[in-house]
Amino acid sequence: MSLPQDIFENLRGFSKAMYSTWFYYPPAGIMLDAGEGAASRLANTVFGVRAVFLTHGHHDHIGGLPGIVLARNSAMGEKTLPLEVFHPAGDPYVQLQREYILHLARGLGYELSWKGLSHGEGVPLAAGSGSWTIQAFRTRHVRNQTTLGYKLVEKRTRLKSGLNGLSEREIAAIAKEKGREAVSEQYEHVLMAYSGDSLALDPADIMEAEFLIHDSTFLAGEDREFNVHASLDEALGTAADARVGAVMLIHVSTRYKSAEIEEKVRNAAKAMPAGMRVALFHNAKKIVLREP
Ligand SMILES: [Zn+2]
Ligand SMILES: [Zn+2]
Repeated sequence: MSLPQDIFENLRGFSKAMYSTWFYYPPAGIMLDAGEGAASRLANTVFGVRAVFLTHGHHDHIGGLPGIVLARNSAMGEKTLPLEVFHPAGDPYVQLQREYILHLARGLGYELSWKGLSHGEGVPLAAGSGSWTIQAFRTRHVRNQTTLGYKLVEKRTRLKSGLNGLSEREIAAIAKEKGREAVSEQYEHVLMAYSGDSLALDPADIMEAEFLIHDSTFLAGEDREFNVHASLDEALGTAADARVGAVMLIHVSTRYKSAEIEEKVRNAAKAMPAGMRVALFHNAKKIVLREP
């Protein structure tokens, strides 16, 4: 199974513009946003959530956080596991939600911690044998306020550039003489990237991501009243420019009927580069509209 397919199948969540958006990726123990209904959907699997990454403080992205915090204290499971909540530094609505949760959650049986993040900051994850990091990057959604996207980055090792023409024996000889650092170098590979409900991401922030989750609130740019969300063409344009392995569109407006959404995405996906998977997560339904 390819990595984009594996991510697609493992990802759980819900996304409906204005109401609720959240995703849970069990292999990394992370939630991306925490819209309402997340705890009731996750039920006892909520104990797999070790860290929540909030893109911004709009209700449809943080309204389910109290339920997550409380369910991890009361449902049947490992109630002592710590939970970390990461969010854009200085977000006033996250601050209010935090105060509300701290009132609710007096006497929690586990450690709950909060940390504001800024563009470029990274959070190492225990999952992925310690080689996984979540990195925050700036998005364009709320005026005069930081909103963040997140990417799951894996540290990988490859043969140092310039040594590609050498035989295995020659490389081994150099490594023996000068050490492994002389023949190998580390690089960062983006496994998954998430836009929240931002305008189109800067492709440079998510270059060659295996799997991109991108806002597509509007099927057509002319349906947009305020310049805060992406359109279908913009989301696909970013995916193409960033040469991602797969793009999954989310946060689609409720003004469109499901059949219309699927048809428009399927048509637009035909123009995407060969080899790119195009999928949709609308309400609770996850669907592939173009196979690579
Ligand atoms: Zn928003
Ligand atoms: Zn939203």
